[in-house]
This record gives sequence, structure tokens and C-alpha cells, in this order.
Amino acid sequence: MLETILNEIEPYDATLVAVSKTKPAARIEEMYQLGQRHFGENRVQELVEKYEQLPKDILWHQIGHLQTNKVKYIAPFVHLIHAVDSEKLINKIDQEAEKSNRNINILLQLKIAKEDSKYGLSQDDLLKLAKDISDYKWNHINLVGLMGMASFVQDKRQIKEEFKVLKNSFDHIKSQAWCPSEFSEISMGMSGDYKIALEEGSTMIRAGSLLFGSR
Ligand SMILES: *Cc1c(COP(=O)(O)O)cnc(C)c1O
Repeated sequence: MLETILNEIEPYDATLVAVSKTKPAARIEEMYQLGQRHFGENRVQELVEKYEQLPKDILWHQIGHLQTNKVKYIAPFVHLIHAVDSEKLINKIDQEAEKSNRNINILLQLKIAKEDSKYGLSQDDLLKLAKDISDYKWNHINLVGLMGMASFVQDKRQIKEEFKVLKNSFDHIKSQAWCPSEFSEISMGMSGDYKIALEEGSTMIRAGSLLFGSR
């Protein structure tokens, strides 16, 4: 399955983040042996446990909603935090990154789904935070792009429209003179909608069940 997906995303030059949440370390190790290096988890405790057990050249992605009081556990090693959606969280990540003597890569999460339950920033708040980051309001944060989750619906047109909103937002920020040079990633697309996401400009797919089987 890994190879099939890698072949599919190859023409798009996107990164595959293998979402290994709930799956044992042994399954990650298997995929690691096949060459996969990017893995994603949404629970901090699970992420830390797997980090400790597995090879140190794995690039760990924190993909789900992150509570400020948990940031300290992943700050020393996390490769990319995907779902950053508040100034309070940025403050905390910056603080913990400084303590760990490193900069932490983040993506700002834009709310693109129509459902109310989803996390994410409004367009206005997103733009304001991106500008503040580029003005070096924080010294230990690298803004490398945006992240979004489409609605869980069957309607492909709706999903496509939601991904377009994220891509437009990305392009808008990218076109600003103040845009940081490392701003290059659009994390969108999961097992059910990654094909649409790739067509709409995703640079990072977060696939779990497709790779590891259902949870
Ligand atoms: C679980 C999860 C995924 C992967 O979901 P699948 O449908 O299993 O591919 C992607 N992104 C986030 C934020 C998740 O929590």
C-alpha cells in the first residue's frame, strides 16, 4: 500500500505523512524499514512513547489539536506541528522551543470545514498571525505553511471547494512581500480525500487508515 500511494503522489512532489496513531511501534518500524521517515500522531503521550522506542531519524509530526500544557513534552524533538490555531499556543511553542534551544516548525490551521466542530483559525486571524510571525514577534517559530481539514462528507465538490479556500489563502500569504521564505507547505488530504487534495495543490498528505488499516 505504501508503494502504491507513493507512486500516486510522486508526480505532485508531495510528502507523505504516515499517520500511525493507535498503531503499535512495530508497525511503524516495518514501514520505516521500507524507507518511510515522516510519521504523524495526534496524541502527545503516544507520540512521546513512540519517539522513545523508535529510530531517531524519524521525522515526527504532531497533527491533531494540541493543548498548551502538552507542548513541553514534544518541543525537544517534534519536526512539525500542524494544527496551530491560537496565539496562546504559539506563545507556548515559542517558549518551549527556546528552552530546548531550537526553532520549531509550525503550520497555521485554517478552518475550512463548514461543520462547527472543527478547530482552526478564521481567515482574518490567520493573516494577522502570519504577519506577526513574519515580524518576528516570536523568535523560535518557523512558519512553514498552512493546514486544513475538509468536512467529512461524500460530496467531492464540497471537499474540493474547501481545499481551494486553503490554497487561495496560502497563495495570498505567499504573494505578500513579508512572507517568510520557508513558507511552502499546504498540509491537506487524508485517506478519504487525498486525491482531491493533490489536485488542489497539497504538498503534504496525512494518511492513516489507508496505510495501516482501519482503527
Ligand atoms: C487521524 C488523522 C488523519 C488521518 O486520517 P485517515 O483518515 O486515517 O487517513 C489526518 N489528519 C489528522 C489531523 C488526523 O487526526
